[in-house]
Amino acid sequence: MGNIIDGKLIAEKIKNEVKKYLEELKSKGIIPKLVAVSVGENQASIVYMNQQKKNCEKIGINYEILQLSENIDEKTLCENIDKLNEDSDITGIILQLPLPKGIDTRKVQAKISPVKDVEGVNPVNMGWILYGRPFVAPCTALAVKEIIDYLGINLYGKEVVMVGHSDIVGKPVALLLVDKFATTTICHIGTSDAGKLKEHVERAEILIVAVGKANLIPGEWIKEGAIVIDVGINRVGDKIVGDVEFEKAKEKASWITPVPGGVGPITTAILLKNIVSLAKLQKGV
Ligand code: NAP
Repeated sequence: MGNIIDGKLIAEKIKNEVKKYLEELKSKGIIPKLVAVSVGENQASIVYMNQQKKNCEKIGINYEILQLSENIDEKTLCENIDKLNEDSDITGIILQLPLPKGIDTRKVQAKISPVKDVEGVNPVNMGWILYGRPFVAPCTALAVKEIIDYLGINLYGKEVVMVGHSDIVGKPVALLLVDKFATTTICHIGTSDAGKLKEHVERAEILIVAVGKANLIPGEWIKEGAIVIDVGINRVGDKIVGDVEFEKAKEKASWITPVPGGVGPITTAILLKNIVSLAKLQKGV
């Protein structure tokens, strides 16, 4: 029966590292500051920002919200981002999504200075992942890598199957792991529609799923002894579940992340780590 990967424990380890770096910065009179850019009113975004504020302030990072009108046009939004880029008191910028219709999200993300891009969404930072030299990368992708490192897995020659190919999870995860010589297969809607998802999942020594469909992966598909990292978050009734049928998968996996309490807390901790890494880069510490 599989061991449960304790995301909170791994997150604590990362936060302790962040605290150490914050002390170092503080001794030089530097307190990092994160600005969340919010366009229009969005209930999910408000909850998310409150959580970010709490996490940042608890550890000693200043947090501010720049609230902009939902009627803002792309040009004015980009000008606001430029102002934040130029303000040396601001360490990091986080753009709350979704943006209103008519605004090109990718264009606005590309406006965020790569050295203030705490979510690793600017194409420059994405490009560094491709070169195998990531500095900051999307938080969830780094969280997946962190779990693999924590378990002490040598990726060399391992069969990895990544289900989901989004820009912020599936693609960067696959690149990070390919770089460590894992044999990495990316599955997506095309794989499912071709009826081939099962055959890929069944041979995965490390299975990572980031789709957003409850129980997409039945437990019996899991290879005996596999490591299962479930990124998905789905609300089913009053419960939050992942993309993998947890109870059955746990019987076959050697290690498995729970949802909630797996990848989520690590993603949150990685955001703090990215902020501090960029503060150090900007201030030459
Ligand atoms: P996304 O942008 O919607 O991407 C989902 C991916 O799944 C797409 O590549 C999509 O392919 C693919 N897909 C859809 N249906 C599929 C199917 N039946 N079989 C195989 N692939 C399929 O989502 P995301 O931002 O990557 O997030 C994925 C999940 O992770 C969501 O539940 C999200 O809430 C969760 N998440 C969790 C954290 C965390 O910290 N725990 C962080 C971020 C996201 P197409 O695009 O071709 O349709």
